[in-house]
Amino acid sequence: MNHAISHDLFTRAIALMPGGVNSPVRAFKSVGGDPFFAARAEGAYLFDVDGNRYIDYIGSWGPMIAGHAHPAVIEAVTRVAADGLSFGVPNALEVTMAETITRLVPSCEMVRMVNSGTEATLSAIRLARGATGRNRMVKFEGCYHGHGDSFLVKAGSGALTLGVPDSPGVPKALADLTITLPYNDADAASALFADCGDEIAAVIVEPIAGNMNCVLPNPGYLEHLRMLCTRHGTVLIFDEVMTGFRVALGGAQARYGITPDLSTFGKIIGGGMPVGAYGGRRDLMAQIAPSGPIYQAGTLSGNPVAMAAGLATLELIQAPGFYESLEAKTNRLCDGLEAAARDAGVAVSTNRSCAMYGLFFGAEKVSTFAQATSCDVAGFRRFFHAMLKRGVYFAPSAFEAGFISAAHSDADIDATIAAAREAFCMAA
Ligand SMILES: *Cc1c(COP(=O)(O)O)cnc(C)c1O
Repeated sequence: MNHAISHDLFTRAIALMPGGVNSPVRAFKSVGGDPFFAARAEGAYLFDVDGNRYIDYIGSWGPMIAGHAHPAVIEAVTRVAADGLSFGVPNALEVTMAETITRLVPSCEMVRMVNSGTEATLSAIRLARGATGRNRMVKFEGCYHGHGDSFLVKAGSGALTLGVPDSPGVPKALADLTITLPYNDADAASALFADCGDEIAAVIVEPIAGNMNCVLPNPGYLEHLRMLCTRHGTVLIFDEVMTGFRVALGGAQARYGITPDLSTFGKIIGGGMPVGAYGGRRDLMAQIAPSGPIYQAGTLSGNPVAMAAGLATLELIQAPGFYESLEAKTNRLCDGLEAAARDAGVAVSTNRSCAMYGLFFGAEKVSTFAQATSCDVAGFRRFFHAMLKRGVYFAPSAFEAGFISAAHSDADIDATIAAAREAFCMAA
């Protein structure tokens, strides 16, 4: 595979942009080598500037659940863009978006649009603090909630990949207000709440953890968090920036039948445009400015072109059988990868939830952060490069979830498994 143009671009980029990228994980730091530069994408495929094609299991880190450059999404964006890119006054698509979200996710009685997942979680925490008059918050080791100061404490995703789960630049006084707990440890949560539950404004959790690879909640765990929060007047925030509209139409909260007080969204909700949202109980959301005193704003929030991309995507995912089909594809892929690894004598395990999955280099079924981080990173790295060479793009980190889109055909998945048969031998 020739990468001359990508290599040249990266050489120019690295002189002018930190690490040559605008978001850390893109730099391939944890797997080594240079990233490739995209020229275009279509369906399940990414095409780089050197003309190579990759079957893509990242989907822009989540948004592209309908496949890249879906004609319905591109048509909506093009049509709406022709009428102007931004107005700074309300537009009708914002109302349709609010109606759509509140219908698909009933715990969201009201919603506010923002421009990223980071903005959504930052705003939700401010709301929880403002509404409860408390300062402390709880997050879980290996969970990632964007790059807000309060969240860069034992964070997942790029922070974990690059070994900087606690970032310089976060004032200690603020970090001290963030309490971290081990994910899936109900007793640890009980003990903390017994100690200081009445001082905790919010618990924020990825209901399915997708930023330390993919880790599912133990049976009863989310119910336990719900119970503790209810008992102590703590706001339970489900960060569904990744899981929202991915693990089910109504997100993880629908899958597990839990009603959080607030939810945060991003990724799929923008269909590839920069969009986030937070929503939840009416009595909480009504405290946001201008209907209440808790301030949050955004010049481009509810942008018409972004709303058009998001709405077109949310339309596509409501097709009958959409999630059943995604789940079958994920199972086909994960079963195939497990079988290929077994035949190559490589120990792997997988976790799956509908259109997201995790592949772990290690025999153990993974349900904790400690297990996720003790997998064979060097083995993954060799596997990643062997797959890339064969035209399959998995996340360039052992600590990221993988994503399936509606555009992945059985033939794409079978080609991926065939590549993996060779790649596992190189990883062994
Ligand atoms: C991606 C992600 C975020 C951050 O969203 P950005 O749009 O990158 O700011 C927050 N929470 C979770 C669970 C995510 O996966």
